[in-house]
Amino acid sequence: MVKEIKNGRLYFDGCDTVELAKNYGTPVYVMSQTDIEDKMNAVHKDFLDKYPNTHAAFASKAFCTTAMLKICEKNGFSIDVVSGGELFTAIKAGFPGEKIEFNGNNKQLSEIEMAVDYGVGTFIIDGLQEIPLIEKVCKEKGKKVNAIIRITPGVAASTHDYIVTGKKDSKFGVPLDDDVFFPLVKQAIDSEYINFRGLHMHIGSQLFENDAFVKATNVLVDNVAEIKKRFGADTYELNVGGGFGAIYINEERKPYSFFLDPIMETIYKRFDEMGMARPEVGIEPGRSIVAEAGITLYTVGQIKDVKGIRKYVAIDGGMYENIRPALYQAEYTGVVANKADAVHDQTVTLCGKCCESGDIIIQNAKVPGDIEAGDIFATYSTGAYGFSMASNYNSNPTPGVVLVHNGKSAWAVKPQTYEQLMQNQEIPADIM
Ligand SMILES: *Cc1c(COP(=O)(O)O)cnc(C)c1O
Repeated sequence: MVKEIKNGRLYFDGCDTVELAKNYGTPVYVMSQTDIEDKMNAVHKDFLDKYPNTHAAFASKAFCTTAMLKICEKNGFSIDVVSGGELFTAIKAGFPGEKIEFNGNNKQLSEIEMAVDYGVGTFIIDGLQEIPLIEKVCKEKGKKVNAIIRITPGVAASTHDYIVTGKKDSKFGVPLDDDVFFPLVKQAIDSEYINFRGLHMHIGSQLFENDAFVKATNVLVDNVAEIKKRFGADTYELNVGGGFGAIYINEERKPYSFFLDPIMETIYKRFDEMGMARPEVGIEPGRSIVAEAGITLYTVGQIKDVKGIRKYVAIDGGMYENIRPALYQAEYTGVVANKADAVHDQTVTLCGKCCESGDIIIQNAKVPGDIEAGDIFATYSTGAYGFSMASNYNSNPTPGVVLVHNGKSAWAVKPQTYEQLMQNQEIPADIM
């Protein structure tokens, strides 16, 4: 375990978190390289080593930094990007272009140009107007790209509504209506600038069941068969997306094999039955790689006891560095890092410093009775969609990210400064 309690303090990947807070300041995100690599090793053991012709792309949106992308490269992972900025991060990290997959439901011409220039390995086409854009760019540049088409499999996964993506009413993927989907596939197959390789799905996030995955995989393969029947075209690649659940509170983490064994069995069985060569299979895990690898350290400030109602404990961060509780009622737990041995039996509301009543990090946090200003609070499982969703609300600079690894620590991202916050602001004197 990368989390340990020693001498009454929380240690994370061998580092004393109270010392980290002192040396790097708070609020600060802390990421454990050991935990990230443990999760990546599990993907190797349960999937990549077990099944030939497979690949795993880290969904970089979960935690997109150059250091993280280096860890991906070192551990044999591809990555998935959904924007010019994520692609630029990959370029800055020197990430190999052929191992980048480009997702996104509204790719801009400039982003497509950037991706074609960098030699991105696979475009994941997510709409009817995307093919002409890709063709325009490829024609100009004399290039051809690999592409798979993201479908909306029409399967409802059980998770929070905002992170369900596979049901029919979705902004993601191409709906499987006969007169919409097949003409698009035909267009991709016939394009002289596109090498059509197959189909993609991503049914949702924070999933702990495998039945929706299997159902949606069957929908993918149904369409493989239909594409073969209608156009005589083979499918070489299927991508089953991400969404494998991570532990935030006390969920029971499922091994990758729990999801991927039945998916692979379905794919192999059905391709064998059709007499088609087994395809390459890709996955796109995000949170299951990085969520548990991250903690956030805060310093406790104001404590307000609203008599008979609740006690508010304010920390020096808030919704600008962790929007998930406000965005979709995400829940967290944590510990007072400098009193980690003490009984945490007082319920308080851990709130941030932003001007919103909804700026709550933990609605019912358990803390020791003697919690006081100056204590260090550590929120667990903040490694996914924390830093990457940070904003500058209330003109708060975004906190930095410290990478820790076997007792060593270093900045992976330095905290933003006030000067950086101001650097693009102008006072347009001549029109005022
Ligand atoms: C968000 C997303 C993922 C990763 O989801 P996690 O829940 O973080 O694993 C993978 N693929 C696509 C297309 C996504 O949008």
